[in-house]
Amino acid sequence: MNRIVYVNGDYLPEGEARVSVFDRGFLMADAVYEVTSVLGGKLIDFAGHCARLRRSLGELDMPSPASDDDLLSIHRELVARNGIVDGQIYLQVTRGNPGDRDFAFPDPAIVAPGMVLFTQVKPNLVENPDAKRGIAVISIPDMRWGRRDIKTTQLLYPSMGKMMAKKAGADDAWFVGEDGLVTEGTSNNAYIVKDGRIITRALSNDILHGITRAAVLRFAAEAQMVVEERSFTIAEAEAADEAFVTSASAFVMPVVKIDDSVVGTGKPGPVATRLREIYVEESRKAAI
Ligand code: PMP
Repeated sequence: MNRIVYVNGDYLPEGEARVSVFDRGFLMADAVYEVTSVLGGKLIDFAGHCARLRRSLGELDMPSPASDDDLLSIHRELVARNGIVDGQIYLQVTRGNPGDRDFAFPDPAIVAPGMVLFTQVKPNLVENPDAKRGIAVISIPDMRWGRRDIKTTQLLYPSMGKMMAKKAGADDAWFVGEDGLVTEGTSNNAYIVKDGRIITRALSNDILHGITRAAVLRFAAEAQMVVEERSFTIAEAEAADEAFVTSASAFVMPVVKIDDSVVGTGKPGPVATRLREIYVEESRKAAI
């Protein structure tokens, strides 16, 4: 691949892009990120991703590297330079390079935040074969830190979760808290559907506040669907009519198996299928 990537103010061929070994993103996972999908060359939910980035930065006292307008220009420039039709833009902001390793945050007046963006081509975002089939998930203990509402690059446990799923012959994993309640998926928010009601965990520090979640719940309400924001157990999910996950990369993805239990008919259900259609249609309309 020969992408043009953005690194700290420059657009460079990916082989020439460099970040310091002292960058705190590399040494400490002292970094936050966003992933924005691109459909038809346009950005989906860009305002939401910017707002969440601001929130993540604020919660970590990390300085902002650019205004929303500048971020939009950089995103658009990368889409244009890399000819992205359907794909994603990954953005990462780090606390920067203090020139040494130290646990204490550097003075933001001296050390500027670092910023990297790159594109990923994903031709099957909409016509994703997984969405037609539905995916299988396993349940695993949620062993992440307590501020999952901040979108940091500490993704080791979610990566381990994906590997546990793969080893078990499944596609993904759902995290379960010590109280037996599902928090979310490794990289998505989790939902069940029972008697026409859409059930998903309420927002708190326990889960990432998904941008896709917000959009899907809005579309569901507009379509007169009933939404219940509350926690559920794996047992309740196994007995549900449908299950699904949402994320900026997967949109609305039906879940047809949880551990050893088939959910509903074992095929993508009508609610998840309809929400996926609405999400793609409305997102395309609102894309910038
Ligand atoms: N939860 C977690 C843990 C995630 O990593 C993600 C995706 N980054 C989500 C939920 C979904 O968020 P979004 O809809 O903004 O992609």
